[in-house]
Amino acid sequence: MKDFPVSARSLVLPQPLNLIGNAHLPAASGAEMDVLSPLDGLPFTTIADSGADDVDAAVTAARAAFDGGDWSRLSAAERGRLMLKLSALILEHAENLAQLETADNGKPIVQARADMQVTARYFEFYGGAADKVHGEIIPFQPGYNVEVQREPHGVTGHIIPWNYPAQMFGRSVAPALAMGNATVLKPAEDACLTALRIGELSVQAGFPPGALNIVTGRGDVAGKALSEHRGIDFISFTGSPEVGVMIQTAAARNFIGCTLELGGKSPQILFEDADLDAAIPVVVKALIQNGGQTCSAGTRALVHRSLWDGVVARLKTAFEGIEASASDESAVLGPLISEKQKRRVEGYIDSADAPLIARGGIADDAPKGGFYVAPAIFGPCAPEARIAQEEVFGPVLAMIPFDTEAEAIAIANGTDYGLVAAIWTRDGARQQRVAKALRCGQVFINGYGAGGGVELPFGGIRKSGHGREKGFAALLEFSHIKTVVNNHG
Ligand code: NAD
Repeated sequence: MKDFPVSARSLVLPQPLNLIGNAHLPAASGAEMDVLSPLDGLPFTTIADSGADDVDAAVTAARAAFDGGDWSRLSAAERGRLMLKLSALILEHAENLAQLETADNGKPIVQARADMQVTARYFEFYGGAADKVHGEIIPFQPGYNVEVQREPHGVTGHIIPWNYPAQMFGRSVAPALAMGNATVLKPAEDACLTALRIGELSVQAGFPPGALNIVTGRGDVAGKALSEHRGIDFISFTGSPEVGVMIQTAAARNFIGCTLELGGKSPQILFEDADLDAAIPVVVKALIQNGGQTCSAGTRALVHRSLWDGVVARLKTAFEGIEASASDESAVLGPLISEKQKRRVEGYIDSADAPLIARGGIADDAPKGGFYVAPAIFGPCAPEARIAQEEVFGPVLAMIPFDTEAEAIAIANGTDYGLVAAIWTRDGARQQRVAKALRCGQVFINGYGAGGGVELPFGGIRKSGHGREKGFAALLEFSHIKTVVNNHG
């Protein structure tokens, strides 16, 4: 294996194979694709380049698991115990998984380590919840007993992106398994090695065949085949709005439900009484975390005009001190995922319709072929500027001044998205008022992100998608209600 520019030189790579019915299999066609490391842009392993046949085999294995297979015979508590075992195995292998994530996705190793803790936590949280979802009894007419039962959908499809490959696996698949669904995961072709490795660990944990299947490959081939497969009962998608529309269309044709998580243009609103010492480091981190390739990245800073000069000065100093670099223990910003994303983000920077405030750098020793982009802040941006409206998915911040609370709310709500927002103010009444007025799925007051927040329902409205992941809300998404009316009179 080549010498990675990461601290570990002895990565355990997953087998470059699909996981179907607990068997590790190549694509039926034998096709493979190269996996590039964003750190240096060079290939270092391969994955299966799967087609519709492989997806069909995975859905068939899942169907067999759900319809009478060993998976369907487990009690909720037994399912939960398997998930807790998988959580423990993820923690046991956390350092290798983190190194793998850094090599495959490019994110700084410190962030990859945190991701593995969150991934393990998803299996812990939902493993613990598996036997705690109860039905209800409805008081009805005399002589009737009415039960409202919560049932799994059946076979659930999961299409996830490359920005948090391991975390997204846990976020999407764990609640589905907890409810007793049998799952088929199509991870992103740009980064899927940790998903494959966690798949191997699931076999070691003792998951029965077909409960958890993984098929790698291209979005427009394997992803499309999964989303259109008539054997799935529900689909969960995270990625771009463009593909989200295709997923929802395919789900409609199949008459099944779906959840979509499609990104955002999330505002951080700094009111005139904001505690800037607390806010500024959070504003910086919420943007450059994962290279800005985070659906919930805080990509707009709405700043009260009385604070404008001070906030600009502080953010300028912070951003000019940030260098994109190959991961070592101190890196805070890595490369972007691919040449395509690098070109896209540089395109936004080069054509920005607002003045440049500051630009960070790229470390001299960053490998030349890697996909590094120096971070950038723009402002004052008009609220309707393209740089303040569209999701860039890179380390780019749009700063927008405002004068009144009403104006701040209008600007915050004035994009097509509605995922996350943050309010920075010491005024308790304003905290309540503005949180209520913001049109989005999650609001933070004097903070941002809440360290993984596995327990906290998450998702958006409008172009950010619909449905909720995380927390107990996700268990409800991965199940449906059956009303059983018993006329015993
Ligand atoms: P994408 O939507 O193309 O990819 C996401 C997933 O969908 C991948 O697994 C991919 O293989 C799959 N996919 C692609 N085409 C498909 C199809 N026709 N049918 C079924 N599945 C398909 O995202 P991208 O091209 O990798 O990134 C483009 C932009 O999407 C980014 O710049 C960013 O704005 C957005 N994005 C958002 C998130 C998020 O977390 N919300 C994650 C990644 C990308």
